[in-house]
Amino acid sequence: MHPLSPAASPVLHSLASVLLIAVSLLAMATAARAESAATTSPSTQPASAKLFRLWTFGDAHVGTDLAAGRESLADAIRQSEGSAASAGGPAIPWDIALDVGDNSGGQSVPKDDEGKEIVRQFSALKNHRREQVYDLCGNHDRSGLKEPEAWWFRKWIDPEGKSTAHSGVDATKRPYPIEGTWERYSFRVGNLLFLVMSDINEPTQKIGRGELGGNPAGVVSQATFDWWRKMVNDNPESIIICAHHYLLKNTTTATGDWEGMIKDSLGNWKSGYHGYKEKGTPIGASYLYWVGSKPDSGAFENFLAAKKPADAPGGSNAVAIWLGGHTHPLSPDDKAGGKELIATKWGVNFINVCSLTQHHENKGSGFTTTPMSRLLTFTPGSDKVRVQCYMHTKAYAPIGWYDKAERVLTLPRAFEAPRP
Ligand SMILES: [Zn+2]
Repeated sequence: MHPLSPAASPVLHSLASVLLIAVSLLAMATAARAESAATTSPSTQPASAKLFRLWTFGDAHVGTDLAAGRESLADAIRQSEGSAASAGGPAIPWDIALDVGDNSGGQSVPKDDEGKEIVRQFSALKNHRREQVYDLCGNHDRSGLKEPEAWWFRKWIDPEGKSTAHSGVDATKRPYPIEGTWERYSFRVGNLLFLVMSDINEPTQKIGRGELGGNPAGVVSQATFDWWRKMVNDNPESIIICAHHYLLKNTTTATGDWEGMIKDSLGNWKSGYHGYKEKGTPIGASYLYWVGSKPDSGAFENFLAAKKPADAPGGSNAVAIWLGGHTHPLSPDDKAGGKELIATKWGVNFINVCSLTQHHENKGSGFTTTPMSRLLTFTPGSDKVRVQCYMHTKAYAPIGWYDKAERVLTLPRAFEAPRP
């Protein structure tokens, strides 16, 4: 078993925790006698000299699973916190979580009742605050073209903490405050810089989610792309972690043209991973297809391909990781399109993290989905990040860590924890 495995040695972990607490208490006593230790809860302590654990999940599609009697989001939260109510499997030790979107399961536009249900399922959090989870908007979370932009996502998921009465997100309680808007924001954890981007409606399309019954190609505005490029160019010393609901073209499993669809016996396209919407853009249903209203723009891909690697003169290779979901893999070993769920290209580690749903799939297509999520563990002073895969049901493998999908990825530079 891996020496860092949380399940490997509970005794050693307990010893380590006791030592860490002792060291922390000593430091607090000598350096800050005036401050009461009782005001510092474990979750708000700086992560100095200890591992930083990022749990990342997506595609809970809460309404779809609830209709089948399953709490896709709350079940995963309870499992992660080792709650007695969860069905087996070890806890997932995490400091913050990044949710890559698609909390809604509707094929039309999301409504208030599902928003309330998602907030209710988030209340399964007992050892973490809601504000320790950072969210973005997936295609199912988008509102209609004729509705106020992203009103549902802003009201119920609310990364800005502007709709606290409904979402329960209080911006002042973020362990790492965000800068930006619901559409694009950043936050820092030591020398990690997170760039989080939401999926939006493509403004040049005059029919969208509501009328089409779904519209699965990924979209960002020119303003979001320009913000992202500037943040990457301006922060060559950071370890940049990007997150969007979608992965980029030809990176991970099934991110190529038409790879979200399959053909019927007559050679006509039909739904596969994603719903076939002839009047949408099915060719790009499984990757970030629209940038600044240009279809298949290649904007992100070309920028990353042109970046010189960190060890070349003038090189920076600043983007370390891109997290996404959207295409629900059949299993952690799904290699559709000759690609894998974790893939390194242009020096960037792309990771498909999803999905939490068990029931949101195109019935009759043969595309079934396996609930899973990922844990990324960063070690101070190390340029390696450990990526583990957690199985939330026993459909494919026992509940808990699925070791075969575990990877150790290389970062452009060593992780530095936040200063105490
Ligand atoms: Zn999606």
